[in-house]
Amino acid sequence: MQGTVAEFNLIKRFFDTRPLQQPFNQLGIGDDCALLSIPNTQQLAVTTDTMVENVHFFADADPYTLGHKLLAVNLSDLAAMGAQPFAVTLALTMPKVDENWLQAFSEGFMHLARQHQVDLIGGDTTSGPLTLTVQAIGLVPQGSALLRSGAKAGDLIYVTGQLGNAGLGLKIKQGYACAQPAAMLASLHTPQPRIAQGLALRGIAHACIDISDGLAADLGHILEKSGVGACLQWDRLPLSAQVLDYLQKTGDWQMPLTAGDDYELCFSIPPQLEQALPPGCFCIGTIEAEPGLRINRGGRLAVLEAKGFEHFS
Ligand code: ADP
Ligand code: MG
Repeated sequence: MQGTVAEFNLIKRFFDTRPLQQPFNQLGIGDDCALLSIPNTQQLAVTTDTMVENVHFFADADPYTLGHKLLAVNLSDLAAMGAQPFAVTLALTMPKVDENWLQAFSEGFMHLARQHQVDLIGGDTTSGPLTLTVQAIGLVPQGSALLRSGAKAGDLIYVTGQLGNAGLGLKIKQGYACAQPAAMLASLHTPQPRIAQGLALRGIAHACIDISDGLAADLGHILEKSGVGACLQWDRLPLSAQVLDYLQKTGDWQMPLTAGDDYELCFSIPPQLEQALPPGCFCIGTIEAEPGLRINRGGRLAVLEAKGFEHFS
């Protein structure tokens, strides 16, 4: 944006986090570019995600959780690659400067950034319809990134946490009544990027993805890129009491497989490496040579369409 004093003060006031925490970040906010020095044993992992008002969130969305979630979804992509995050940039497009909104948004954003020792090293501030973009940058040792393309028949399929909680959180927002809704709403609004788990999976997982669009859709990407299929075991899906109760009441048993926003990691590993896994991972099925995604529910096989949240449909 045109660098008026007011705008630069705004960045300084709400976002400037100097001193930088990471040694790779040699110059942060304040010049035309940030400068990063990368060890030559490492590769950069770079990702961008945008959130647009009325597309990804509603106009009345709480700015603190918005700041958290915007950063979390980007860090989740780094986690899925086994990368260690160290820097982010932030492009803010806002209809007007609302200081209360900015204060809360920056607190949510910076709190999560500090938790993961991530420096905000630059960005852009422009006027227009509320649009929030982050670029996240991480490091991964040469050749050890976790790709979608490495799954092999015989691998076990794991997830790092419960499925469907964020999906149920959305239904609660839309009026569904549920006991203990707070945990479900927290899954929806303040997902935790699985950075530590992603790092622990380096050298172990054959393939990995983060679940943003629903397990069926995202595991489907692994299957497609790896040229394999899979069979899931319904009984082994990690489901919260609230989700189980919802399934019983509605019969909507595909919800935990198709609802988005869980931001757990889904990965495949050879069975002999199971013991090396970090705690809190759940085995939910097996990679098979036959293409397609199947699920065994009480001895009956059903074929799952990869119909998680489809963008632009
Ligand atoms: P330029 O016009 O050279 O692109 P700007 O005036 O847009 O520079 O920004 C000035 C400095 O503030 C730059 O270092 C830029 O990276 C930083 N900056 C601008 N907006 C943001 C933001 N929303 N978050 C973090 N840093 C920002
Ligand atoms: Mg410039």
